[in-house]
Amino acid sequence: MKKLMIDMDDVICDGGFLTLVNQFLNTNYKIEDVKAYYIQDLIPKERMSEWAEYFHKQNLYEHVRLLDGAYEVMENLQKNYELYILTAYIIRDDKSISGKNLLNKFNWLYKELPFIKPEQYIFADNKSVISSDIRIDDKISNLKGECEKKLLFTAYHNKNIPESELEKENIIRVDNWKEIGKILL
Ligand SMILES: [Mg+2]
Repeated sequence: MKKLMIDMDDVICDGGFLTLVNQFLNTNYKIEDVKAYYIQDLIPKERMSEWAEYFHKQNLYEHVRLLDGAYEVMENLQKNYELYILTAYIIRDDKSISGKNLLNKFNWLYKELPFIKPEQYIFADNKSVISSDIRIDDKISNLKGECEKKLLFTAYHNKNIPESELEKENIIRVDNWKEIGKILL
């Protein structure tokens, strides 16, 4: 069976960071307002330490939603592929809380996707050291290199990447899980 690596954040689930940032700032930002990859960049510089303290007490994964179709399509993919969840867990702004983030990720996956065994979770910050036949990720840098099939999952931060750039890297864009199912099942 082919080895299939699926990213977690903004592929399987999303919305956690935006919800927390809005709660903290008392704002109503929409995902379209986010211009960079890191949603927390919406926070003014002078409030960053206050945000760090606030974020420390939160579980990001209490605020995420499972994306439409992810459960059903992955359940089917699992029958045809050696499936892994390949996800980074290091928090850029405060690496000391990354362990807690990893635990929250684990607990969320364990509860929400019971058909995927913990042995199929790979927590890694540098995804390029892991080989795979097929890879699904929303971050284009995680799709570079040798891989038979690379799918870029459309997200707020990658929607403006032109088709020509994707073609150069042999990357296919997918907007939702239905499209993933059509390509891989
Ligand atoms: Mg991601």
